[in-house]
Amino acid sequence: MFGRGWTKDDRFLIRLLIIFGLGYLAYRVVRSWMATQFLDKQQTKNQKPQPIEDIMIKDPYCGAYFPQRQGETLRYDGQDLFFCSKECRDKFIKEKQA
Ligand SMILES: [Zn+2]
Repeated sequence: MFGRGWTKDDRFLIRLLIIFGLGYLAYRVVRSWMATQFLDKQQTKNQKPQPIEDIMIKDPYCGAYFPQRQGETLRYDGQDLFFCSKECRDKFIKEKQA
């Protein structure tokens, strides 16, 4: 069995194995690359788009200053408005609707 040299079929099989091996390696590389891409997307997804910082801002309705974090938010006309209280927010909404 040994010593008869490579037959045509043996070479074909070896080549097939190499091709599969390279294909598998490429698959692993692509997969790990996809995994990092996916992780990156997840990380940015977990980040809040607009972090509410603890800064003093002005209530657009009553004019009082208060920590933004404690304020009531309202999505109005494409921007986030902050109010010192729900009452101010409700009054603001009522005024805009009137
Ligand atoms: Zn207010």
